[in-house]
Amino acid sequence: MLKVQNLTVAYSDTPVFADVAVNFNAGKITGIIGPNGAGKSTLIKAMLGLIKSQTGTVSFNGHALKQFQKQIAYVEQRKDLDLTFPISVFDVVLTGTYGKLGLFRQPSKADRQRCLVALKQVDLVEFANRQIGQLSGGQLQRVFVARAILQDAQLIILDEPFVGIDLQSETAIMAILHQWRDEGKTIIVVHHDLNKVSHYFDDLVILNHGIVDYGPVDDVYTPANIERTFSADLSAVLFAKGGAQ
Ligand code: ADP
Ligand code: MG
Repeated sequence: MLKVQNLTVAYSDTPVFADVAVNFNAGKITGIIGPNGAGKSTLIKAMLGLIKSQTGTVSFNGHALKQFQKQIAYVEQRKDLDLTFPISVFDVVLTGTYGKLGLFRQPSKADRQRCLVALKQVDLVEFANRQIGQLSGGQLQRVFVARAILQDAQLIILDEPFVGIDLQSETAIMAILHQWRDEGKTIIVVHHDLNKVSHYFDDLVILNHGIVDYGPVDDVYTPANIERTFSADLSAVLFAKGGAQ
C-alpha cells in the first residue's frame, strides 16, 4: 500500500493543500479527480519527492517511497514534457531497462528484444525510429506505457494520460492497466473526464486543495461529492437518469 500522511505543499507562500492523508491500494486502479488547479499534479510530484513538501511522509509497503525509485513509472502531464529532446521511440522505451542495468552496462540484446515486444504490445513497432516529438498524443502515451512495461514497475502513475488522445489508444492503455492491476501493481491515474470514472477506476480520490473524499469508487463518486467539488449543474448532468456514468 502507498500511504501518504500529513502532506503539506506550498509554492512560495501559497498553500496548495495541507495535511493530506490518503492511501492507494495495490491491485487497484485509483483515479484522482478534481477541478483544474486543485493540486492533483502537485500531490503526485510531492509524493514522488520531485517537489519539496513542507510536512509529510510517503511510504510504500511500510518503507520510504524513495527506496523504490526503480520500481516507479511516472508519466508527467503532457504539457510538462520536453518533446524537443532528440530521442527515438525505441530509445525512450529502452530507458525502461536502466533501473535494472548495472552502472555503465549497455542494454543487452535481450533488453532490445524485450523493447520490441513491449512496442508490439502497444502497437508501435513501425514507429520505433520516430522522434518522440513527432507522435500523436495517443502514440506518445503508448510509448510511455511500453517503457513502464519494460521497467516492470510496481507503482505506475499517469498524470492525465487521456487528454487529447484517440479512443483506440485510450482503450489499449486501459487494457494494459487492467492487466497490471490483476498482477497486483499499484496504479494511479489523474483524470479529467468525469464520464468514465466509475467505468475506469476501482478506487477514487477527490481532491480540491485537500482531500474531499477517497475510497471505493462506488462510495466516493456520488452526486453530493461531485456537486460540492465541481458544481450542481455538472452533478445533475452526470447523474441524470440514463445519463453517462
Ligand atoms: P492540477 O494538477 O489539479 O490542475 P496543480 O497541482 O498543477 O493542479 O496546481 C495546483 C495549484 O498550484 C494551482 O493554483 C497552480 O497554479 C499552482 N502551481 C502549480 N505549479 C506551480 C509552480 N511550479 N509554482 C507556483 N505555483 C504552482
Ligand atoms: Mg495537473
